[in-house]
Amino acid sequence: MELDSLYQEVILDHYKYPQHKGLSPVFTAQVHHVNTSCGDEITLNLILEGNQISSLTWDGQGCSISQASVSMMSELLIGKTLDQASLISTNFSDLMSSKGTSSGDSLILEDAVAFAGVSKFPGRIKCALLGWMAFKDAAIQAQTD
Ligand code: ZN
Repeated sequence: MELDSLYQEVILDHYKYPQHKGLSPVFTAQVHHVNTSCGDEITLNLILEGNQISSLTWDGQGCSISQASVSMMSELLIGKTLDQASLISTNFSDLMSSKGTSSGDSLILEDAVAFAGVSKFPGRIKCALLGWMAFKDAAIQAQTD
């Protein structure tokens, strides 16, 4: 796949130096998601304090896109309220379904706009979305407990 080289660097950087990797011993919700088409796996631990994400840790294995995406996501979402996180998450999903026509809103997505180029590769979109889908699931579980 061809991604803009600067973006590729940001993604590889998160892959090599993942943020918030290593599961917290306690959690409000824990989910495990698998992307069978690529073999990516992610376990996500979410801790909520009221309506705010106080901790988001994960462990996983798989391709650089999936692992870098969950790393960037955790960095972006920690400290946010569930409403803010939902807005960011929807923005990222929209970017992934843009088929390469959007460069993403860097005010909302920050470094995660690096994944804009991935939307041109249908086979990799699931990789980029894996962590975000896991988060969505964890947020629902945390609120229904
Ligand atoms: Zn993958």
